[in-house]
Amino acid sequence: MGRDAMTTVRAQAEAVRIENDVLIPTWFHIGGRADQLARPESASQLRTCLLRDPELRMLGDGANLLVDDDGVRELVVQLTGPEFTGWTFDEATGLLSVGAGANLPKLILEAVRRGRGGLEGLGGIPASIGGALVMNAGGAFGQIADTVVRVHGLTREGQPITLERDEIDFRYRHSGLDRLIITRAELELSEEDPAGLRDRLKEVMHYKKQSQPMGDRSAGCVFKNPVLPADIEGIGPRGERVSAGMLIDRAGCKGLAVRGASVSARHANFIVTAPDAHARDVIDLMADVRRRVHDAFGVEIEPEIVVWSSTR
Ligand SMILES: Cc1cc2nc3c(=O)[nH]c(=O)nc-3n(C[C@H](O)[C@H](O)[C@H](O)COP(=O)(O)OP(=O)(O)OC[C@H]3O[C@@H](n4cnc5c(N)ncnc54)[C@H](O)[C@@H]3O)c2cc1C
Repeated sequence: MGRDAMTTVRAQAEAVRIENDVLIPTWFHIGGRADQLARPESASQLRTCLLRDPELRMLGDGANLLVDDDGVRELVVQLTGPEFTGWTFDEATGLLSVGAGANLPKLILEAVRRGRGGLEGLGGIPASIGGALVMNAGGAFGQIADTVVRVHGLTREGQPITLERDEIDFRYRHSGLDRLIITRAELELSEEDPAGLRDRLKEVMHYKKQSQPMGDRSAGCVFKNPVLPADIEGIGPRGERVSAGMLIDRAGCKGLAVRGASVSARHANFIVTAPDAHARDVIDLMADVRRRVHDAFGVEIEPEIVVWSSTR
């Protein structure tokens, strides 16, 4: 395929517009480009994308994503069309049917307005529903898994699939849904007083603003909170999950920088980027932080953020 600004692909299904050589939008505001990016408007167009590249990469809101500077060769797909971003409430059952491309913060506001509780603890988490499900987004005030009834999607072969809650391996920042193309989910929300929900959302947002560098360019927490492999004096007993930010801070990494990337002075588990930063700066800084935490405590910290590179 040539590198014209736009190409139309016709397969056995509906045609889909594909843009060539596009900067992949992420909350780090740095990183590489997609050779090809599609924003399908319908399930049929999404199937066309899968026919074209079964190894395609799904892009949500890019809030947990670092794209290496070389960019990616696979087709990148973002679900921005109305079929994928809408939601409907069934007032009788409290079930919310929501497209995978819907914006989580907007959905939270709408749920609170309607007096439907369950999502307000996720206030301040930038995400699409698809990305929030894959990451099991959450924190001290809950996780999206708590509301999930079922998830709909397509397999890599283009077959529709529905997974009930108990078929999904939801754990701390994990779902096992990574290979699925998530298109929609049904969430169960409880009927509550809108004023109470508003207050709770305000508290959550206040906590986040106090503790996190919300205005900086970041992808949220870079590392998962690890489970301690042994008793560590002053840290915790073996088997306890502890804050990665606390370990990074106590390993002396706050303020540590590699070129345009630095460990946030406000929250040690956030890496923030300057406008001239490269993805390589973040990757090198992550390696340095992991090494220092390991040297200080003998604890391996694993990335929470997803890194896309040309070698996958
Ligand atoms: C300021 C800030 C604060 C944050 N705070 C938190 C927090 O408190 N708690 C928390 O958990 N996270 C937090 N994050 C991280 C981020 O918001 C979450 O991980 C969120 O769930 C990412 O969603 P996304 O749509 O941006 O996914 P992306 O970053 O676009 O993608 C993440 C993964 O999901 C996959 N994916 C996306 N959509 C689909 C789909 N439709 N089908 C299949 N796979 C898909 C992608 O391929 C990728 O593997 C924060 C980020 C920022 C920038």
